Amino acid sequence: MEQQVIILGAGFSGLSLAWRLSSHGIKVSVIESNGTVGGLAGTLRQNRYCMDIGPHSFFTEDTDILDTVLGLFNNNFPSKPRQVKFYYQGKYLDYPLSAYNVLIQMGIRSGIRTALSFLKSKIFPRRHPTIEGQDETVEDWAVRSFGEHLYNSFFKPYTEQFWKLPCSELSSRSIPTHTRMSFFNTLLLLFWKRVGTTDASLIERETLPTYYPDSGFGEIADKLADAVQQNGDRIYLKSRATGIDTLSYNRMRVRFECDGKQKEIEGSHVVSTIPLNRFIKMLSPSAPPDVVASARKLDYRALTALGMVTEKQNILNCGYIYVLDRPYNRITEINQFSPHTSPSGENIVMVEIPCLQDSPAWTATKEELFNICIGSLSEDGFLTPGDVKRLLLVRAPNAYPIYRKDYAPNLKQVLDFINRTEGISTLGRTGEFMYMDVDKCMRRAFDSADQLINSHRLTKNK
Ligand SMILES: Cc1cc2nc3c(=O)[nH]c(=O)nc-3n(C[C@H](O)[C@H](O)[C@H](O)COP(=O)(O)OP(=O)(O)OC[C@H]3O[C@@H](n4cnc5c(N)ncnc54)[C@H](O)[C@@H]3O)c2cc1C
Repeated sequence: MEQQVIILGAGFSGLSLAWRLSSHGIKVSVIESNGTVGGLAGTLRQNRYCMDIGPHSFFTEDTDILDTVLGLFNNNFPSKPRQVKFYYQGKYLDYPLSAYNVLIQMGIRSGIRTALSFLKSKIFPRRHPTIEGQDETVEDWAVRSFGEHLYNSFFKPYTEQFWKLPCSELSSRSIPTHTRMSFFNTLLLLFWKRVGTTDASLIERETLPTYYPDSGFGEIADKLADAVQQNGDRIYLKSRATGIDTLSYNRMRVRFECDGKQKEIEGSHVVSTIPLNRFIKMLSPSAPPDVVASARKLDYRALTALGMVTEKQNILNCGYIYVLDRPYNRITEINQFSPHTSPSGENIVMVEIPCLQDSPAWTATKEELFNICIGSLSEDGFLTPGDVKRLLLVRAPNAYPIYRKDYAPNLKQVLDFINRTEGISTLGRTGEFMYMDVDKCMRRAFDSADQLINSHRLTKNK
């Protein structure tokens, strides 16, 4: 039987894996349910407008990955500094939010309350034992680290607006590491006049140069897909995987739907980058019931992004801003990324509306979402209803793996099962249920390709 690797999903993980394998002469087929490649980091192209699923830019400290991406653009890919702000109670604060912001820019009273409650949390720490098999929650972590005031005034509203779940249900790993680090370092600096021992590189990642293609982030994915196809391999678009059958040792079959027809393809290995909970349900023979039950508990938070086309320019004076107490958690001005994403003289303002699947924000029409958002946008002086001439909408059902407080043992059980099952593996942000940016997806995909070639002795067959 022909040796080929079947890859589920044509996001950055699936495409990078496919490219690396196909460049080594290994035959691959990629099955993608969407009509375009790029997954979460793809670009919606409608008429002459280009809109990403939330603002994306490429940045990395991995020189090999940087060279690879620059090479896709024949090294003609200029970098830009990142321009991000945090908008809170009518003031622009630096992002990642630092203790300096909280103490100085948010006002002296708030600063004093923060300092006092921070000291209280250190002198009288909360005794809240962590239950075995559960992570410390965002609530316990934030109160322990920063005190009640900062937890109630910042961490709780921001986290709950973003995740749509209570802080007492979420693992503290839901808080991005750079946010924790910047707070810790600046608090230590302010209170004890010394820098903490935390890893400064995590903050420096925020200051890395960023890259953005002219016609949307998805252009990078298009180039990866072109490279796979130039190697003679196929990407099946509008093809939704529905079943994975182990036929015998090194003989796998993937069933998929394309244009309403049932199709199948055979290969020696299947690598999945699709949502982990769905992948487990597709396996035949079935995964053990306890593994299926654990996978069911690993769910994702969805994202709806609404684009408002306008002739207004220089609206935010930066690429994007995070906001609190609004129906959306981030506003992006797309012309600040590239003016070629709209016809000349036009611009797109995009708001990201965090939601759970099947919630009202997930099912609302773009007009309904516009009505929900425009009041706050007007109040903050960004856009009035008359400024908007067209709406664009993009939805991502599996944008963020939800790190619930008990997610770690569930994930371990599912991944242990996959690791000991011949012929299958998982990869990527969605496939491994792990927060990752594009550069890390590419790194893991390249390393996995090398490992597959070496450990399974895949041979060239092209
Ligand atoms: C709002 C937002 C902003 C971000 N900003 C940045 C940024 O600025 N820089 C950065 O580096 N990273 C950023 N990221 C992270 C980045 O988007 C991800 O790391 C990356 O896109 C994940 O790629 P992936 O291939 O692992 O997963 P995905 O992109 O989720 O790919 C999985 C693919 O599988 C397909 N699929 C699903 N089910 C099936 C099925 N049954 N059959 C076939 N195909 C299926 C999906 O359509 C998708 O194409 C951001 C993420 C979000 C959500």
